[in-house]
Amino acid sequence: MSNFRKQALQEIGVREFKPMFKEQTSLAEEFAINVFDRKAMRHYLSPEAYNVVIAAIDEGKKIERKVADQIASGMKTWAMQRGATHYTHWFHPYTDATAEKHESFLDRAKDGSVFENFNGDALVQQEPDASSFPNGGLRNTFEARGYTAWDPSSAAFVFDQTLCIPTIFVSYNGEALDQKTPLLRSLQVLDRAATQVAQFFDKDTKRVNSCLGLEQEYFAVDSALFKARPDLQLTGRTLIGHIAAKDQQLEDHYFGAIPQRTMSFMKEFEQEAYRLGILLKTRHNEVAPNQFECAPLYEEANLAIDHNLLLMTLMKRVAEKYNLKILFHEKPFAGVNGSGKHCNWSMITDNGTNLLSPGKTPRSNLQFLTFFVTTIRAVFEHHYLLMSSVMSLSNSLRLGASEAPPAIMSIFTGRKLAETLQSIVERVSDKKMSPDEKTELKLDVVGKIPEILLDNTDRNRTSPFAFTGNRFEFRAVGSSSNCALPMTVLNTAVAEQLVRFKNEVEDLFSSKKIKRDEAVFHVLRKFIEESKSILFEGNGYSEEWLKEALKRGLRVVESATEGFKAFIEPETIRLFEEYGVMSEAELRARYEIFNEIYAKKIQIEARVMGDLAINHIVPAAIKYQNRLVENVCGLKQILTEEEYEELAMPQLHSIKKIGIYIKNLRDLMHNLIIERKKAHDIPTFPERAKAYKDDVLPIMQEMRLNTDKLERIIDDEIWSLPKYRELLFVQ
Ligand code: ADP
Ligand code: MG
Repeated sequence: MSNFRKQALQEIGVREFKPMFKEQTSLAEEFAINVFDRKAMRHYLSPEAYNVVIAAIDEGKKIERKVADQIASGMKTWAMQRGATHYTHWFHPYTDATAEKHESFLDRAKDGSVFENFNGDALVQQEPDASSFPNGGLRNTFEARGYTAWDPSSAAFVFDQTLCIPTIFVSYNGEALDQKTPLLRSLQVLDRAATQVAQFFDKDTKRVNSCLGLEQEYFAVDSALFKARPDLQLTGRTLIGHIAAKDQQLEDHYFGAIPQRTMSFMKEFEQEAYRLGILLKTRHNEVAPNQFECAPLYEEANLAIDHNLLLMTLMKRVAEKYNLKILFHEKPFAGVNGSGKHCNWSMITDNGTNLLSPGKTPRSNLQFLTFFVTTIRAVFEHHYLLMSSVMSLSNSLRLGASEAPPAIMSIFTGRKLAETLQSIVERVSDKKMSPDEKTELKLDVVGKIPEILLDNTDRNRTSPFAFTGNRFEFRAVGSSSNCALPMTVLNTAVAEQLVRFKNEVEDLFSSKKIKRDEAVFHVLRKFIEESKSILFEGNGYSEEWLKEALKRGLRVVESATEGFKAFIEPETIRLFEEYGVMSEAELRARYEIFNEIYAKKIQIEARVMGDLAINHIVPAAIKYQNRLVENVCGLKQILTEEEYEELAMPQLHSIKKIGIYIKNLRDLMHNLIIERKKAHDIPTFPERAKAYKDDVLPIMQEMRLNTDKLERIIDDEIWSLPKYRELLFVQ
């Protein structure tokens, strides 16, 4: 195999491509056919068992073991009819992927006969032999047990002939080892706090759900080219590669026609997604070549996140059929846009009222303003933590790269809403308001809110956290991430402000003897005043904003490793402990895990960089240099001295340049190994991660400068790695 790239390109050339998609007659009929949803449960469970599961889903009630047996039996019958042979607890440890360990339904009875078995115990709790997931010290090896426990609020589904049961993953002591457990806790805390405040406005509110619509961006590249790039294969991004002559400057890809092969791929994964109950709504090209986006209709947050993770698995799986590789990495290609996972977040009551949607009456608008302003204050108070929660090695390569918001939190509200907030500050004072003042405020300010919706259609795409008419859109979240963590932070922070809001309103109400509406205005004014420095309507990518943000006292997340520290700051520990979302031990464990993953990923990248430089780039450079040397020697024989001086010069120049780049690479490689080993020997993960960032990453960056220079000089024939123009433009 002398030339991977040539082979890959040949493979693409001869490959026949047949779309496998069959037109579906009725999408709705197939929807959620592979999900053990309420409809399936009603059919396969006794009325008693059905009611127990529904109470568990809707009210968080416990499920008795006896009933669990009945549920398991119904679930098994259903799953086997959907083709399942195995079952698995499906959970989200701190790796990039979901985890599963499949067990066959088959079992042996006492009399030796074989039968299909799946009982309540197998459904409710498992002990996966999973001691090697990152756990940040929460499990000592002698107590390495971790338990998965059924999460009935996310329906079981059949995927790849396997019954998948969404579960949480906790240690022997009940500490969260996964991303779902803290998320579920935060959803409960938010529900409780938001319900109490929503009851100010509507006594009948029983429940508030946090809802999420997740826009997923990704790249799709040809799998033969992908396989010829060790860096893409092992790190998810290109560590080297000169930018293509054409990239996204013509802006002709965004919303353009979707290439045929990708389109067929999309249709097929969408159809599979529908069967899994994932209601995908939109698909389109993104800004960079070969970059795309899909988004489902929003739904309850826990479900939305499970669906997003399942969707990512599904997309990778279906892509294989089309000889495509899906890149979820935030920055697979330098110099073109990276990918995000925009989290559209709102709070919706059990009767369907979106608390972040302006209503038709001053009263419903006051409700809207209450939830709007409490969210703003939550984001303000925890702006550093919230921004830190999206940090990872890969996302830090994307943020602030002039196509994604930088790592400073700010909120875009739209001009009209900013004016509304300002009016409240101006018109409400500490004094008791006269009836006229109140009426005026309600009519002039609160009554006019619905008009602003139009304003928000022309929204600011440079803001990391933007209000988009009836929801907030957190755009700094990375495409490869499980967004449970940022959502856990957001839910908890908002819950806290809602609790404070309620307490302050009730204090005013009882101490000053003012009406509740007026008390609400007073507290809103105070909240707005205290948090207004987070509001920013301008260009979030600009240099001026960075200066301005610092002047306002906002904290900038300097790097991923700095950001990780936010999780062990006393204020963070206080917040999460006070609301029972994460304990100090759980937070410290996460801090360890983030650093561990960060360090290990750079370690892998550095090794791959070494392989590329030494095994691919330098040999190609020498080969070409030799060819030039041959050429120069030949010229010397056939030309006069004078002609030679003139005509061999360019080649001689290239020979020297190549020599310099090769030498640079060898020197840098030498340093890279030294620094990598030094970093690796540091015993604690936080310090190790920092050393990798400060001492290893910059060397890799410099190596890249040299390899990219060589790419421009060396004969295209000899270059063994697929180039950017192929990775980004082969469709
Ligand atoms: P855009 O790219 O213009 O931001 P998309 O249509 O790609 O918008 O995605 C918007 C996402 O926001 C969708 O997933 C949509 O369902 C979701 N969404 C819409 N309304 C709400 C809401 N009230 N709460 C949460 N998500 C919402
Ligand atoms: Mg979109």
